[in-house]
Amino acid sequence: SAVLSPRLRFAPSPTGHLHLGGLRTALFNHLLARKWKGKWLLRIEDTDRTRYTEGAVDSLRNSLEWAGLDYDEGVGVGGSHGPYTQSERLDIYHHYTKELLSRDEAYECFCSPNELEAIKASLKQQGQRHSYDGRCRHITDEEKVRKKKAGEKYVVRYKSSSQPMDIPPDVIFGENQPSAPTAGFDDFVLMKSDGWPTYHLASVVDDHLMEISHVLRGEEWLPSIPKHHSLYKAFGWTPPKFAHLPLLCNPDGTKLSKRKGDTFVEHYMNKGYEPPALINFLALMGWDYHSALSTKTTLDPHIRNDGHSLYELFTVDQLIDSFDISHIA
Ligand code: GLU
Repeated sequence: SAVLSPRLRFAPSPTGHLHLGGLRTALFNHLLARKWKGKWLLRIEDTDRTRYTEGAVDSLRNSLEWAGLDYDEGVGVGGSHGPYTQSERLDIYHHYTKELLSRDEAYECFCSPNELEAIKASLKQQGQRHSYDGRCRHITDEEKVRKKKAGEKYVVRYKSSSQPMDIPPDVIFGENQPSAPTAGFDDFVLMKSDGWPTYHLASVVDDHLMEISHVLRGEEWLPSIPKHHSLYKAFGWTPPKFAHLPLLCNPDGTKLSKRKGDTFVEHYMNKGYEPPALINFLALMGWDYHSALSTKTTLDPHIRNDGHSLYELFTVDQLIDSFDISHIA
């Protein structure tokens, strides 16, 4: 089915070399964007300064280039040139934080790390799943002014609601995903005390401003879905469609582990692998032969029927033709 103005993104955090799982996410975004004649953009999510790694952005870009996954630059907001880098967009996140504060959808929290620790421990003792009790919701304006004057640090938290919220099914996981308010999330942090936004705020704001139609990302972000949907609701924005990709695993089903660095794309670059070999490996792992046979969006029949089909490398164009998100599930 035709998708109007499809826009996708790959949004890695520059914490090290590109991982095979990251390349797979980038690949699937690339294939869908090209298949739908849409755009996909690269967004560097570098707001977690404790995990930021020097050189990681160059390494990411090199790996994508090696793999032949070109993204569209200079699209989106205000004619700026991609790739988008969140550290260059801090004013935007502050603007939207203020908007939520002024609408009483967020509040400033002055609890120190020690206090937070104590609150968490006592909630746990009471058998509660929450780790923060929302006490700073009730601070008076005078007290806030006094605390700020005294130089007390604060974060901005989202005021979570216990109201039920409809969460559309995930494109891949369907209804099988956490739902609010059963997910029972805390008043999570939007803006940290160092003035940097959290991933949740920055990614929702950016996906909206960059007019992303489909968020295709790893399954590890599925638990964040209720938070993200509640932010879209708070801002009054239409959420994109979400498709979470099952993670790559070891043969025994455990999380893919790093042995000899072979989970990094760089490893394959340095060993002299041909990019199409790795691309095919990653694409076809998510390709279900039987469902591919029974639908129209399959690999080209003459490739499939020539007896060598499964051993031949597909070109990226052939992969684009055959790619269908329903094969991933
Ligand atoms: N920056 C996140 C990561 O490194 C991206 C999550 C997302 O795509 O929303 O995995």
